[in-house]
Formats: sequence, structure tokens, C-alpha cells
Amino acid sequence: MKKTFLYLATALALTACNQNSETETLAEDNSTTSVPARRTCPSEEIRAELLKNDAAARQRYNNIEAGIQNFISSDKVLSDGTVDIPVVVNVIYKTSAENISDARIAEQIAILNADFGGTNTDASKIPTEFAGVKAGDTKVRFHLIKTVRKSTTKTKWGTNDAMKKSSSGGIDATSPANYFNLWIVGNMGGILGYATFPESAGLWNDGVVIAAPYFGKTGATSPYNLGRTATHEVGHYLNLRHIWGDANCGNDLVADTPTQTGANYGKPTYPLYNTCSGTSRSVMFMNYMDYVDDAAMFMFSAGQKTRTQAVLASSGARAGLRIY
Ligand SMILES: [Zn+2]
Repeated sequence: MKKTFLYLATALALTACNQNSETETLAEDNSTTSVPARRTCPSEEIRAELLKNDAAARQRYNNIEAGIQNFISSDKVLSDGTVDIPVVVNVIYKTSAENISDARIAEQIAILNADFGGTNTDASKIPTEFAGVKAGDTKVRFHLIKTVRKSTTKTKWGTNDAMKKSSSGGIDATSPANYFNLWIVGNMGGILGYATFPESAGLWNDGVVIAAPYFGKTGATSPYNLGRTATHEVGHYLNLRHIWGDANCGNDLVADTPTQTGANYGKPTYPLYNTCSGTSRSVMFMNYMDYVDDAAMFMFSAGQKTRTQAVLASSGARAGLRIY
């Protein structure tokens, strides 16, 4: 064995660029027949040789280090696991009323933080029946990165994403893989807002659109004047479905939201019973993913929280929002 080793080591020494260091290594190896007096580990020296001689390895090394430094300096996962989502608000306005103020944008962000944090004051209205499955703090937060404004002569917008492209009179998204983009337009007819789901993560049209009258609170139009249109649409953005599963007694892919026949509107009175497959259940119409008025919705469920956490996990479709 020793002879073979010596032969290989000599052959390596002869072919090595740095014959001196190979000779030294060989000498050390020969002398260590007993337990070393001091610990030694050559990994860094071996790596230094690799990086000196292999340009591709050098490039990989630099990429890895750059990624790590970026992670350390900019990861937005707070110490308790909360994902603090960076928000870009794009305001496209014709009238001054549509040019939503910075104060109202701050108000809307605060509403999102309260609703997703479970600190909304009306959470006290959650019926005892559903208190055990309420999400409480979903560990999702939002903070404004920047506001982009653009005036327009357009009076009405649709759901064809025209507001998301400068070439069609809108504002291009800012880094949609890493920022949550929110567009505010003056008027979409009977539509309060709409969202893209996680399969659109990072695409040019990824984000949420809200009609100005239903954005924020101060000056917003009743009964959609508590900022809950944004809470609902951000729910979609984070992979939540309508609570009735968009079908008669449909499936919202969440186990703890009772099956209900369809959407609820206005301000229903609790308890409200629906019968699906012969079973009568008290339904969770106060969920943000139903269609009730802003004042009548005030909770996410624990199952919904799990879905949002999954999509924001480092392996999730919206993991890009964790780093920017
Ligand atoms: Zn919806």
C-alpha cells in the first residue's frame, strides 16, 4: 500500500504545477504514522489550488459568495418567520380624486398589515364557533417601497391588463418577481379589483389592480371603504380561492372553511346555514375571501394561513418576495 501511495504521490509531484508544495505534502504524509500532535486540515489549500487553476470553479465560487452576501443583507424574513413583502404602488389617474394620496396609500398598507396580522379591531366579532380556526397572525406583512404615478386621459379600464404596460397607457411592473405590484386605476365599471395567482409569479402582469374608489379608507366609497378589496385580492395573490370554491358547494382547497353554496353579499346575520350534499352547516361568510361588504369580513382561517405560508416559503412560487 505504502509503495503504491509513494508511486502515485511521486507521479502527482512530477505533473503538478507547483512541485514544491506537492513534495511538502508527500513529506508530511510520510511522517504521520502516529497520531498528529496538532490537528490540520488542508481543505482551504486544496480549494486555493482549484480556484487558481480553474476559471469555471472561480466563477462558481464568486456567484455563491455574491448570493450569500445578498441573502445576508436583504432577506426580508423576520426573525419570527414573518415575510415582510415589499410593495410598489402604481397610480394611474385622470382626476385628482383618482390620484390617491400618499397618506391613503399608507392607510391601505396599514389595513393589510392589520388584516394579515390578525390585529384588525373587528377581529373581536369572529364568532366563537370559528375562533378555534381563525388564522390570527398569518405572518405576512407589507411595506411600501415606492409609488409610481402617471396621468392618463383614459376614463375606464378593463381586466385586460392594459394598466400594467406603458405601451398601452399603463405603468410597467417593477421587478414583479421580487416586489408585489399594486395598480390603482380610476374606474373598472362594476369591478372593485382583480389579482393574479402564484402561477403568474414574476410575469409582467403579476400583481393586484384596485379601482380608486375602493382603495384605502379615507374618501373611499361605501360599502367597500375599509380597504378590504385589497385584503381580498392580496389573498388571491397569495393563492387563496373564493371561500365557496367558485361553484355551487365548491371546494376552496382549505379544510377548515365550511362548504357553502355560493357567494354571500351585503351584511349577513350570523349564523347563516347552507346545505351541501345533504349537510347543513353554519358558513364562514365573515371570511375575507367571501363577497360580503367590507364591514362584514374580518377573518382568514388557519387553513388559509397555511396556503399563504406555503406559497411564500423558500420553496414556494412567491419565494422571490423574500429577497430583494
Ligand atoms: Zn376574488
